[in-house]
Amino acid sequence: VKRDDDSHYFHSYAGNDIHETMLKDTVRTDAYRDFIYENKHLFKDKVVLDVGCGTGVLSMFCAKAGAKKVIAVDNSAIIDKARENVFENSLDGIITCLHGKIEEVVLPVKQVDIIVSEWMGYLLLYEAMLDSVLYARDKYLAPDGLMVPSECKLLIAAMHDSEYINENVNFWNHVYGFSMSAMKEKIREDVIVHSLEPKSLASEPVVFYNLPLHTIKTSELSFTNKFSLSVKDNIESLDAFVIYFDTFFTTSRGEYIPENARAETWKATKDKGVAFTTGPFKTPTHWRQGVLLVENKSGMLKSGENIEGEITYRKSNKNSREVEVDISWKTDEKKDQQLWYMR
Ligand code: SAH
Repeated sequence: VKRDDDSHYFHSYAGNDIHETMLKDTVRTDAYRDFIYENKHLFKDKVVLDVGCGTGVLSMFCAKAGAKKVIAVDNSAIIDKARENVFENSLDGIITCLHGKIEEVVLPVKQVDIIVSEWMGYLLLYEAMLDSVLYARDKYLAPDGLMVPSECKLLIAAMHDSEYINENVNFWNHVYGFSMSAMKEKIREDVIVHSLEPKSLASEPVVFYNLPLHTIKTSELSFTNKFSLSVKDNIESLDAFVIYFDTFFTTSRGEYIPENARAETWKATKDKGVAFTTGPFKTPTHWRQGVLLVENKSGMLKSGENIEGEITYRKSNKNSREVEVDISWKTDEKKDQQLWYMR
């Protein structure tokens, strides 16, 4: 991450609102709490590093679960509130709050047993905070140490929803009796963050990238992968691709999560497994889903028809915290390609 990409970023985490939004996202915060409180044996007497502690909530979960020491790091001014929150809850004997970038701060220990962090952004990788978490992992995590969470999966689905297109695109054709085509320019260029209903999906979602957090390298955060979607019912057009992620918490480094596992079902098959989805089939989260509107009318797609695609995620040249998504795809009738920005 380049230095000039940082000041705006850390400033955006200084105020109350963003932290309130995250804390009130109970799907998110409950998952961390449940994993930590249901696995107290993992935290007992351990040294934990909280990368990007915000208000300190995750550090306080870990302290309550029996951690010996928690180091809470944040480069935003919110760290001053974290320190007060920790003090107010009498956890200052266990939790040490440090102001600074994890890449630069001097920790009071050489090694930690557990890294806990909530680093996920829109489309999972927007903000590029995972880069910082991997830096911390490689520098501080014990060889047998645990990452919390331990795996994320990126999923993609086809979307067809005329109502959505009417409300969000064609809306500009008739605004109080005026036509505002200029407002539609480039409307399909940026990823739109929106909570969809399941009925908007024209295919089952499929996993297109696995991020095993104990082992993945920073260089693997830009990638190209293939995917294949099967259209459920006949649709008039492919309106968009939808992207979201699932997050998994495992109790050991070794635990294997099947390639195509979905948070919704994996959780039920596990004894103490915790996982959550940001997809459209469960309680919405503050991440919602990424909607990538398709520029060219595709024409009709038949039930059972496949969309064979290749997707590339890369960092933007302009700002390393921004993401570009490039998809090329093929249906029975047609080949197409498009680039979207998350900025
Ligand atoms: N852990 C808190 C906040 C998560 S938001 C919670 O779960 O509620 C992510 C936080 O990470 C932000 O407060 C941001 O300022 C911080 N952060 C992001 N990158 C960082 C870095 N490289 N060094 C230190 N803090 C970072």
